[in-house]
Amino acid sequence: MPFKSLNMKKAIFFLFSTALLLACTPSQKSVSNTTTSSSNLVINGKLFAVAYMQRSAEYHALCLQAYNIATLRLNEALQNASSKPRAVITDIDETLLDNSADEVHHDLQGKGFDPKEWTKWTGMAAADTIPGALTFFKYAASKNVEVFYITNRDEKDKEGTLKNLKKFDFPYADEAHLVLKQGVSSKEARRQKVMEKYDVVLLLGDNLSDFSSLWDSKTVGQRLENVQHQSSEFGSRFIILPNPVYGDWENALYQYKRLTPPQQDSAIKSWLKNY
Ligand SMILES: [Mg+2]
Repeated sequence: MPFKSLNMKKAIFFLFSTALLLACTPSQKSVSNTTTSSSNLVINGKLFAVAYMQRSAEYHALCLQAYNIATLRLNEALQNASSKPRAVITDIDETLLDNSADEVHHDLQGKGFDPKEWTKWTGMAAADTIPGALTFFKYAASKNVEVFYITNRDEKDKEGTLKNLKKFDFPYADEAHLVLKQGVSSKEARRQKVMEKYDVVLLLGDNLSDFSSLWDSKTVGQRLENVQHQSSEFGSRFIILPNPVYGDWENALYQYKRLTPPQQDSAIKSWLKNY
């Protein structure tokens, strides 16, 4: 019996190893074929961070946590009287649509962000949803809370963006509620315009500039300071989603300059705490 059981174990191990090998081979092949040019810390770091977003249950849980808190806060706001119609303002990318497949697509080729490739991606309307997002926005709409999508996607992305939102049946996916970038990256003027007519009960985003101009083009230190000053707003009126792949947190490390990959590597290393 022990001999038989050992053979059985070996057979199971062999079958498992073969299955694992077959499962891994295609992606490993494609990775090795496309990453020869990238030893860049940023590109490789982004792939590592995307793995966290795409495959960690912890990222999934963080998103659900954000949208669960959003639901609680919305319910609280609904208890208060309002002289204006209610609305929520939300960012799109990495707040309710997941563009990580596009990130992987160019990172595996050793390429950074390319506006032309981005337009191609948004036109495909192929982004998935961020966990918890669809349920929350549908719930808000069911309570007559309008949803304004204030995004730095621009006019070129309009058709694909609406198509992508409609594909999942996001509420208020129309031209009146999709507020694209009109030249200026800051979202402040666009937010103020919505706030003139609506009681904005919540703002949702993955980037601090989705909440206030307090974080527009600020240094690493100023960003942290302003978060500290506004600490009571997080989980209250501001609902922030995690994004370890990109955002103003990264741009601030580069002092908002266009840097070459080696310069980016040096900038990042210069900010790291060590002992
Ligand atoms: Mg975003």
